[in-house]
Amino acid sequence: MRLPQGPGRRPVVEHYLTDPGRWHKVDLVRHRDPGTPGGWRYEAHLMILGPGHTSPPVAARREAAATLHRRGGVDVNVSNLAVVSVPVPDPGRVDGLRATRVARTGTDDARLAAERLRQRRRNRALQRSRRATNPTQYRLSPRQARRAERRAAAGLAPVQVVVPGGPRQANTAGIPVQAYRRDMLSGTYRRLRGRAAADGAARTQAGRTRARTIAATLVATHGANLVVEDCDLRSWARRWGRGIHAFTPGMLITALQHETRQVAALGHGSGLVRAGTRYTAWTQHCLCGTRVPKHLRQRRHHCPDCGLTGDRDLVAALLGAHTVLADPNVPGTARIDWPAAQTTLDTVGVEAINQGLQGALSESTGNPRPTRHPHGARPRRPQRSTSHPRPHGRGGWCRRARRTTGTSRHQATHGNRRPVPPTTPDEPRTTPPCATTPERRGAHPGLRHDPGTTPES
Ligand SMILES: [Zn+2]
Repeated sequence: MRLPQGPGRRPVVEHYLTDPGRWHKVDLVRHRDPGTPGGWRYEAHLMILGPGHTSPPVAARREAAATLHRRGGVDVNVSNLAVVSVPVPDPGRVDGLRATRVARTGTDDARLAAERLRQRRRNRALQRSRRATNPTQYRLSPRQARRAERRAAAGLAPVQVVVPGGPRQANTAGIPVQAYRRDMLSGTYRRLRGRAAADGAARTQAGRTRARTIAATLVATHGANLVVEDCDLRSWARRWGRGIHAFTPGMLITALQHETRQVAALGHGSGLVRAGTRYTAWTQHCLCGTRVPKHLRQRRHHCPDCGLTGDRDLVAALLGAHTVLADPNVPGTARIDWPAAQTTLDTVGVEAINQGLQGALSESTGNPRPTRHPHGARPRRPQRSTSHPRPHGRGGWCRRARRTTGTSRHQATHGNRRPVPPTTPDEPRTTPPCATTPERRGAHPGLRHDPGTTPES
């Protein structure tokens, strides 16, 4: 048995091993590791009863975050996350408004494109290997079949095809004659598959570590009193799988939840609270209370009444910082605290708020390491489905809706057609404020919690 080595590991090992009274159990875990003989790495995981190890710098950072008397809102999107916080109880305090934006950069996109290219190449290699090892299970490709016919007509001997390019041998119902699990697999195939699995696990781990780093920075800046919109990210993943995969908002929210809980346990802050969007509609309001409807393509907020101007997501997060919940465990009880919002507007001033939002700090979600294949990245190919939108089914419907954003209101008011569904949960509502659509209900599970209450205004 080899204990974790390296600088800074000794306190960790001591934390877990010094007190046998806290030992709970040992799990034997194996990980795919193409670099080790046999392809697997075995580890013994000791679980203890009690808190895990916290390094002194992390503890100090959390202590400092616990003394921040601030309240913040988190606006989550498919491709970015905005956090804005104000001091409480006096929003006009000298360390005033703070705004941060987390988004993907061009470098992140290039890295992702390179990764996708690598995956595509690896999948092709796997496919070729499987076909070459089980040639009787595949038919010839049209080109290979034509050549065979040509040679037979000329009286030549048939050429042995190493990798048949056609479809799998199947019965009339389309079921393969031989199940895939009965295929022969070569050593190359197993090695490649192992490497793909190890790469995937490493990528997930890197993403999680990065999310925790971002969450730590956000909580150190904005404190542990945060309100986030209650969204069902699974429904987003169904609509924008690729964007969600690239940005991983769910991972960020989970990391924020963990970090705020750790800081809140020190005595200050309520942690990350989920607010239902039905009665708040952050993106559709101004801090002064005026309703400023915006379609998804409008990325800027400009209030005609008070002059508040800024990025749409940051203004939404600012309203999130003024959202209160009667019961923190029930997202449907969330309401915007308009008197507090007015106080912020009066004490901080519109000019200062505009400047604060303008100077929002930026965080990247990408991996700071340079990419291994800087030349492998290509511009993203257009999605096949965009040129052939499916008229039926959830995916096709939503893609069409996305492309016709901005016409939904027109259609809803001037025609009998069903309004085009919102493209993100923060789209303006085309139905009366007391009703909702199945899509919104699916995207916001918090809506189900408050059937008895009535909407404000
Ligand atoms: Zn306003």
